[in-house]
Amino acid sequence: MALIVQKFGGSSVKDAERINNVADIVTSTYKEGNDVVVVVSAQGDTTDDLIAKAAEINDKPSKREMDMLLSSGEQISASLLAMAIERMGYPVVSLLGWQAGFDTSSDYGNARIKRVNVQRIEQELDKRRIVVVTGFQGVNRYGDMTTLGRGGSDTSAVAIAATMHADLCQIFTDVDGVYTADPRKIPGAIKLSSISYDEMLELATLGAQVLHNRSVEMAKKYNIELEVLSSLTRRKGTIVKEESNVEKMLISGVAKDDNIARISIIGVPDKPGLAFKAFKIFSKLASKGINVDIILQSIGRNGTKDISFTVDKNKMDDAIALLQQNAEKWGASNIVSDDNVTKVSIVGAGMETHPGVAAEMFEALFSRSVNIQMISTSEIKISVLLNKADGDRAVEAIHEKFFENH
Ligand code: ADP
Ligand code: ASP
Ligand code: MG
Repeated sequence: MALIVQKFGGSSVKDAERINNVADIVTSTYKEGNDVVVVVSAQGDTTDDLIAKAAEINDKPSKREMDMLLSSGEQISASLLAMAIERMGYPVVSLLGWQAGFDTSSDYGNARIKRVNVQRIEQELDKRRIVVVTGFQGVNRYGDMTTLGRGGSDTSAVAIAATMHADLCQIFTDVDGVYTADPRKIPGAIKLSSISYDEMLELATLGAQVLHNRSVEMAKKYNIELEVLSSLTRRKGTIVKEESNVEKMLISGVAKDDNIARISIIGVPDKPGLAFKAFKIFSKLASKGINVDIILQSIGRNGTKDISFTVDKNKMDDAIALLQQNAEKWGASNIVSDDNVTKVSIVGAGMETHPGVAAEMFEALFSRSVNIQMISTSEIKISVLLNKADGDRAVEAIHEKFFENH
C-alpha cells in the first residue's frame, strides 16, 4: 500500500462533470489499496472572480480581508468533491488548510508554509478515509486565514507529500505534461517525458505557469518526484526529478513572463563610489521586499550613468515611490519606468557545456526584427527583455530555432 497525493487544478474541478471525473480518478487510486490525500484548487476562474468582486467594493482592500475572501474558493471545491466521492459510496472527509495543519507565515497573499502538522490527516487516513484538503491556504500565528500566492495549490500538495513522505505526488492539470513551451500558444511544443528540478524551477520562475515555482523548490529540497499530467486523458505525464537522463536536450524550454516592468534611474553622477550607490539602491528595494531581476548600467554620457533594472509589475509603484524619495540624495536626475515590456527566457542544463546558445537565440530574434532591451544570463538560462508586443513572436521564433528546425 502506498501513500499518494493527487492535486487537481481549477479547470479539473470547474463543474459537476469535472468533479465527478476527479472523484473517479481518486476512488480508482483508493480502490487499489492506497492511502489518498487529494488537494484541490478553486473551481475554474473562481479566484479571479473573487478578486473582481472585491474590487467592486473596495479598490484597496486589506490583504487580510483578501485572504479571508480568496480562501473561500477552495472550500467550495473541496466540499463538492467530498460529496461526489461520498455519493459513490467511499469514506471521505474534506479539510480546510488550518484543519489539515498548514501553519504559515503572516504575509497575507504570499504566505510561506512553516510546517504541516499532519496528525489530523493521519488520523483520517487511519480510518481508511480519502482526505480532501483545500490547496492554496493556511493559518498564521494570529489564527487568521492566509493564502500562498497565485498558483499556490501545487505547493500545498508538495508540502503534504514531503511531510508525509508520500510515495507519489501527482499534479493533475489541463495539459498532459510539461512542454518545451506553453502548448496553448505554440502548437509545435514538444512534451517532455522528464525534466530536472533545476530546469523546472527556472521555467516556473520565468513564467511557465504549469507549476508554482515554490512547489518545485520544495520538491527538490525533499526529493519528491512529481508527475504533471492531465485529469482528462489517462496518458502518462512528465516526471520532475533530480536528473532528467531520458532527454539530454540542450534547451528544455522557452518561457515568457509579462508580469514585469523596467525602471531606470537616469543621470547618476559617474564618480568613484557609484557601485556603493547602486548597492544602496538595491538594498533599499530589498528591504521593502522588492526583488530586482535583470540589471543594466549604461555606458556613461556627460559624466553620468543610467541604472536600469526590472521588478515585478505589481511592485513597480512601490519601487518608484521609494526611488523618488532618494533620487536627490543619489544625485539622479530622473526616474522613468515602462511596464509595456515582457521577459522571454530559454532554460536548459545543456547550455553549461555548449557555447553559442545565446548567439542562436539572438539570431532567432534578429531574423524576426525583434529588438532586445536587456539581457541576463546564468549557467542554465538566458533571459531577454523585449517590447511586450514582440513577446509571442519572439517565443515562436526561438522555439522554431531550437526545436522545430533541428
Ligand atoms: P491548474 O489550474 O491546473 O493549476 P494552470 O493554469 O496553473 O493549471 O497551469 C496549466 C497551464 O500552464 C496550461 O494550461 C498551459 O497553458 C500553461 N503552461 C505554460 N507553460 C507551459 C509549459 N511549458 N508546459 C505546459 N503548460 C504550460
Ligand atoms: N485558486 C488559486 C489561484 O487561482 C490557487 C491555485 O489555483 O493553485 O491562484
Ligand atoms: Mg496552477
